[in-house]
Amino acid sequence: MKREPIGLYLHIPFCRSKCPYCDFCSYPRPTNELMESYTHELVRRIREAGKTYGETLPASVSHSGEGTTSRRLTLDTVYFGGGTPTLLPPSCIRELFAAIREAFVILPDAEITVEGNPAAAGREALSVWRECGVNRLSLGSQSAQANELKALGRLHRWEDVEKTVTDARAVGIENINLDFMLGIPHQTPASLADTLSRALALEPTHLSAYTLMLEEGTPFHRRGRAALGLPQNEEEADEQAVTLWEQACAILQEAGYEHYEISNFARSGFRSRHNLHTWQCRDYLGLGVAAHSCMNGVRFGQSRDLEGFLAGKDITEFTEILTPADRESECIMLALRLSDGIDEQEFSNRFDKDFWHTYGHICIPFIEKGLMGREGGRVYLTEAGFPVSNAILAELI
Ligand code: SF4
Repeated sequence: MKREPIGLYLHIPFCRSKCPYCDFCSYPRPTNELMESYTHELVRRIREAGKTYGETLPASVSHSGEGTTSRRLTLDTVYFGGGTPTLLPPSCIRELFAAIREAFVILPDAEITVEGNPAAAGREALSVWRECGVNRLSLGSQSAQANELKALGRLHRWEDVEKTVTDARAVGIENINLDFMLGIPHQTPASLADTLSRALALEPTHLSAYTLMLEEGTPFHRRGRAALGLPQNEEEADEQAVTLWEQACAILQEAGYEHYEISNFARSGFRSRHNLHTWQCRDYLGLGVAAHSCMNGVRFGQSRDLEGFLAGKDITEFTEILTPADRESECIMLALRLSDGIDEQEFSNRFDKDFWHTYGHICIPFIEKGLMGREGGRVYLTEAGFPVSNAILAELI
């Protein structure tokens, strides 16, 4: 039996500055020397992982990447996330790709994404990413309004987003995702409509819209809702978030985008294949500080210890062996984020039980209320069901 291709995630934890709401693992103002040291260590770990997982492949599932028998794992997606990977110097980008191609087999039609910040992704840098194989750019755009970008502490202006999209296309990167935020200080339904209309004018293949969260430990969290001009209590904030989210869904669907995941929208054929690895409970390997993985039924994550990482130490923060029951709950939870929902046949192949027989009685009341649907061998949340997904999941798992 052939092993399924996996997704590879590489975390690049550097940014030009630290946004006051950001809880991602990123360190501001890195020197070139630091980024080079990080790259060298990441390369070492890429090689090590390629060897470790390659050795576990039985000969019958070996792949023949370039005509020779190879025991390398096959990748159908590669994702450079961060942080701001587009900050990396060209020599680091080339070094990383050489290591990935040596350690793994990248399928010819693989989706290879780099995350970029419109304030740090010039045409020259993008052309190096493209030359190395990148075919998808995910841009942290957030808003088209100057006052909202300023409130978020972002360094870019909307014009930088427009320029970066033009530059990406000029170097041959046509598959472009724009990330937006909902619930930004000063945001109104009118400003959101204007932001999305400007975004649509750029004809991205994919858009994501996530709600601003006040994460513990961030300057935004310390300042608090009142000082930021946000709704004072959770309930009000949730209500506002749902209203803006519904507005975004309506605008983007009207423009012809598939609302294929709670927070994600795509032109037909442009769903994020990398993120689908997670949502479809398929294996992915994450390397670098703060990177998470799920491989062969084991979930594990790296800590944020940059110093330890650079010193070559094992920085594994947790390892969790998933029981069949864990896998089942996780698959239900993640699949219901997708408009396709749960494929009953696949569920039965995977868990050796009939989904409807086991969970149908819980789903029926939600179907009657129009919050879930069952059609074509699939059970899914409807548009009305997405905003109350947590309550539905609480009943199911
Ligand atoms: S650019 Fe992105 S990763 Fe970097 S600090 Fe801002 S939000 Fe965080």
